Amino acid sequence: MKKLESPIEYLKGVGPAKGELLRKELGVYTFGDLLVNYPFRYVDKTKFHKVRDLNTAGAEVQIKGILRSVNTIGEGGKKRLVAKLRDDTGVVELVWFRGIHWLSRSLEVGKEYIVFGKVNEFNRKFNIPHPEIEAVNLQNAREESTFSPVYASTEKLNNRGLDSKGRRKLLKTIFEQIKMGEDLPENLPDYMIEKLKLVPHSLAMKNIHFPKSQKELDLARFRLKFEELFFLQLRLLRIKRRRVDEVRGFVFKVVGDYFHQFFNEKLPFELTGAQKRVVKEIRRDLGAGSQMNRLLQGDVGSGKTIVALLSMLIAIDNGYQAVLVAPTEILAQQHYIGISEDLEGIDLKVAFLAGSVKGKKRKLLLEELAEGKINILVGTHAVFEDPVIFKNLGLAIIDEQHRFGVAQRSKLWKKSSPYPAHIMVMSATPIPRTLAMTLYGDLEVSVIDELPPGRKEIDTSHKMEGNRLRVIGFMKEQIKLGRQIYIVYPLIEESEKLDLANLMSGYETLLRDFPMPEYQISIVHGRMKAKEKDFEMQRFIKNETQIMIATTVIEVGVNVPNASVMIIENAERFGLSQLHQLRGRVGRGAEKSYCILMTSYKLSDNSKERLATMVRTNNGFEIAEADLKLRGSGNIEGTQQSGVINLNLADLGTDQKILTTARAVATQILEKDPKLEHPANARLAAHMRKKAKNIKVWSRIS
Ligand code: ADP
Ligand code: MG
Repeated sequence: MKKLESPIEYLKGVGPAKGELLRKELGVYTFGDLLVNYPFRYVDKTKFHKVRDLNTAGAEVQIKGILRSVNTIGEGGKKRLVAKLRDDTGVVELVWFRGIHWLSRSLEVGKEYIVFGKVNEFNRKFNIPHPEIEAVNLQNAREESTFSPVYASTEKLNNRGLDSKGRRKLLKTIFEQIKMGEDLPENLPDYMIEKLKLVPHSLAMKNIHFPKSQKELDLARFRLKFEELFFLQLRLLRIKRRRVDEVRGFVFKVVGDYFHQFFNEKLPFELTGAQKRVVKEIRRDLGAGSQMNRLLQGDVGSGKTIVALLSMLIAIDNGYQAVLVAPTEILAQQHYIGISEDLEGIDLKVAFLAGSVKGKKRKLLLEELAEGKINILVGTHAVFEDPVIFKNLGLAIIDEQHRFGVAQRSKLWKKSSPYPAHIMVMSATPIPRTLAMTLYGDLEVSVIDELPPGRKEIDTSHKMEGNRLRVIGFMKEQIKLGRQIYIVYPLIEESEKLDLANLMSGYETLLRDFPMPEYQISIVHGRMKAKEKDFEMQRFIKNETQIMIATTVIEVGVNVPNASVMIIENAERFGLSQLHQLRGRVGRGAEKSYCILMTSYKLSDNSKERLATMVRTNNGFEIAEADLKLRGSGNIEGTQQSGVINLNLADLGTDQKILTTARAVATQILEKDPKLEHPANARLAAHMRKKAKNIKVWSRIS
């Protein structure tokens, strides 16, 4: 067996108990797993704090000094070990509540130690509880002269000596036992290493744990980030190529009467240049013979719906049915109504399916769908259910896609034969380029990067609670002018009860401060039945109510052009893309529109930055980039579930340049050597084979 595949408990210093702990706490099963458990930061071992300068509780410090005394104090639960460490400026106490027995035997008074830990304030004196402590000796002076890695740890690990110090020891043992070139073989071809000036794989693996200088560390991190992103892109691009080459699809040969009739007679406006370009891209793909898998990106209000409709007409022109799926019933219904109106006078049947469509009505619909009498089905995820059978589904469009799980989408594949239907997913808000490259790296991507003419910037401001009265005055003014207003409250901790309480108390406060018998108010929240929600929405759409108070159920897609003010309560609780999406509900009509972000005074830096971004720009692509930078790629909605982004070291927010290079290099290589058969690429092929064995079934559905 290869050394790095050895079970972790066989490592000297581990054993069965610690082995179990490493498996449970860190998912470390083998020697190799421990190696790729990279440090998350480093302590500069050349820099020492002076005892005299300790003055901030919570600060992390490193002190070098002589141990003056070690004493066990107290009894029972209060028993602790107190040691005094002296440097040339003073004495600091070190305190341990656990591991007392072992420590009191191993610490030697009079010896020089390096101590690392967090400062604590107790009785107006500073001490350091549970520091890492290590005797200064020649060996660590030589080998860890500069940087010492810090590993993510847990209480349980720390208690068993598997803290950073313990882990460093284990890693050292591994590096002593392995043969660098053999156990950590090079996985990139020499020509890449030379061209990109990379350090060898094995050296990078060693230096990421034990760098002797900042330069060594930077080189190691760059190398490992690069290979991580490169192999991810290589895999995605191969999947994409394979799909285009191998997954046959329906060929939509013609653009026919329905498309032309609609385009010439019914299109309510001239398409923007970007819309025209995207429709052309889609048309080309639909006729090419392989299954289309496309992501359609565009900012809120950029006009994705009309592109969806035109694409569906192409499917119908070729004798196929089409389906449009939206994440909520309200949104699906709006699409249904909008599309039905657009197609008035054209001999096509559009139908609506959601959970609320039941009984006879549902039965009839399903029959007509199976017989092919329905051309376009618009609905919620209800269309994914098994009894929903199409005669010949050719195109499926999924709006605001991030809300659907992969499993749901996979059901679409079974709804047509002999080929899977063409699939287009439309993003609710823009996705940063690097994220799209990765999350959707195996899809075709079309971008609508232009808004329809005449759009006005939405005037966005951030107001604190103290401005409440002015905001209410502004609302009154706007309603007098004939406008409508949204007021949105956040969902709190996914608890619908709390959510409702919050909304209701907000509503009551509003009514108390703002009595307005002459105006009507709608409320929509998550606990209402679909029918009730819809009833209230319709009242607002018809301008029977002037104020819509809602939780985020109105977030996506809803279109009420007369609404010109969006007030977001507790705006600091929303993510950037959500805020942008909410703001996109206004600015849809001719009137100047406003978005007011209400917050309390106490805001984290991160919240401040998010709010400032909203005030600064209306551009969804810019906002998406800022979001990625603020949150890091691991936290972006949809990335965790997708299973695609499981990056160990690289971050799509901060490592955009490396990613772009990695993708470009992978593209070039596959263009020349699609199957990686060239001898120069042997290492790549071998690495991909090895990876494929280790990776759980990895399939992309849409
Ligand atoms: P989104 O991309 O957010 O789904 P929609 O498709 O809902 O945007 O379009 C937003 C609004 O812009 C709609 O009222 C739509 O009719 C209008 N619209 C779309 N394309 C154009 C265009 N080329 N010219 C003018 N208005 C357009
Ligand atoms: Mg939309």
